[in-house]
Amino acid sequence: MSETVLIIAAHPDDEVLGVGGTAARHASQGDDVHVLIMAEGVTSRSTIRNVEQHDANLSDLRQSAATAAGLLGTRPPRFTTLPDNRMDSLDLLDVVKQIETHVSEIRPTIVYTHHGGDLNVDHLIVHRATLTACRPLPGHVLRAIYTFETLSSTEWGSPDSGTPFQPTHFVNVSGTLAQKITALRCYEAEMRPFPHARSLEAVQALARLRGAQSGLAAAEAFGVIRSFWS
Ligand SMILES: [Zn+2]
Repeated sequence: MSETVLIIAAHPDDEVLGVGGTAARHASQGDDVHVLIMAEGVTSRSTIRNVEQHDANLSDLRQSAATAAGLLGTRPPRFTTLPDNRMDSLDLLDVVKQIETHVSEIRPTIVYTHHGGDLNVDHLIVHRATLTACRPLPGHVLRAIYTFETLSSTEWGSPDSGTPFQPTHFVNVSGTLAQKITALRCYEAEMRPFPHARSLEAVQALARLRGAQSGLAAAEAFGVIRSFWS
């Protein structure tokens, strides 16, 4: 049975960092893979949010996301335009409602979203809003909700947050890691030189570590929020 997959990410590039290899695997086996990107990206680089000032950068970033999606075999990303790194200025309910709109239209059977202990505030809010938008009401079609790790945010979270990332679900990405790296190259402006955590070398190293933890040459690792066999 093919799955309907929805990746709910805060920023353009999170979807590739967290789930790129797994998304490519889903796509290659005929699953219908959707990507929802919640924040506009870039505008947090200014002291005051000014979308017009960053118009060209935002457009480039969306183009990067679309190209990366094509390389992974997913559908073109859907975007909402919530303020970058300022989602805590919104009512959580407003974020939930944005996600609910897409969830009710797509009706995903598998959802991937951020880990709830990340350093980045947008990641936390997307995590919480996704759990609310995907709560298991009667008649739901969900089979699983997974959380992914995002280099330069998950491992930078506070140990006092109470929610360290302890993956329990591993996906073999030996065959799709190269695709993931190629997709990340689309986000050249977001990536940094090694030894920054958000570098191509660090992404490959993490994939090898997760692989070694699970007897595989390369893996992506996930937390399991809920899974169902109904
Ligand atoms: Zn992010």
